[in-house]
Amino acid sequence: MDFYSGLKDELIRVMPKQRCCEIAELSALVRTDGVIQISQGRLSLLIRESNAGVARKIVTFLRGFGRPDTQIAVRQGSGLPRGNTYVVLIADHDQTVELLEVLGIYGSAGLTSGIDPAIVRKRCCVRAYLRGAFLGSGYMGEPEKGYHVEMALRYRSHAEEIARLLRQFEIKAGIVERRERSVVYIKHGDDVVEFLRVIEAANSLLELENARIVRSIRNDVNRLVNAENANVAKVVEASVKQVQDIQLIDEMMGIGRLSPALREIAWLRLDYPEASLTELGAMLSPRLSKSGVNHRMRRIAETADRLRGQQGS
Ligand SMILES: [Zn+2]
Repeated sequence: MDFYSGLKDELIRVMPKQRCCEIAELSALVRTDGVIQISQGRLSLLIRESNAGVARKIVTFLRGFGRPDTQIAVRQGSGLPRGNTYVVLIADHDQTVELLEVLGIYGSAGLTSGIDPAIVRKRCCVRAYLRGAFLGSGYMGEPEKGYHVEMALRYRSHAEEIARLLRQFEIKAGIVERRERSVVYIKHGDDVVEFLRVIEAANSLLELENARIVRSIRNDVNRLVNAENANVAKVVEASVKQVQDIQLIDEMMGIGRLSPALREIAWLRLDYPEASLTELGAMLSPRLSKSGVNHRMRRIAETADRLRGQQGS
């Protein structure tokens, strides 16, 4: 199962413990998935959802709010190009009005335009509202491909309100218009982690943190390997120059005419072109420190430079 499906499954199973949060979560689901139909002054509510689990959760919420005789029709439609669409319909005007009033979507002045402040007054309810909004309109990409959460909403004003709710938890969110939707997006790793915490996706959060740790270790290892490669490259580069110097000396005057100390290190370098100075020093007896080897290599380089000067003139 991919990360997003797992996250959605987890959120479907999170049931609020308090009535206030149930109202907030259902209110968000109705605002994102619902359509209020008005016919001859009578209201009905149609909720369309492509995810069976989310549709079931909506039905569970509605049963909790409805009168005992409230009938909720759930049928499989085929509105989307792929998969089923689950349709929840509340056809009765009075039941629709009663429900929308509870959810802060309908008041004495008719349909409300924004989120009713009473619905999201408490922090617990803001969390529940964000969870509902994500279930109804959200998407999260695979964490390995970077951190990205988004909610695609029908109204710009709703997107702005959700971004404002996110700011209450110091989660930075942007809004972009895309295909007739206002998309609220969260793309910073820390903000995505905080979002999952806020909507109470504990298992997904753990999984995300693990993926983060693995990724950071992988980066560290890569950095280490790169640093090692850089060192190897430096050693090789220095060695190539030293070998050229020694070959020049050999051609123009013969290695045998170097002092015993330089001759010894020159032969070693030709035999072990990949060895570091420290390694070369360890092969000498008595062994010589890196700076000792370096000093001898410098004298070889000076000798070679002098010979090159003679060659030039
Ligand atoms: Zn609450």
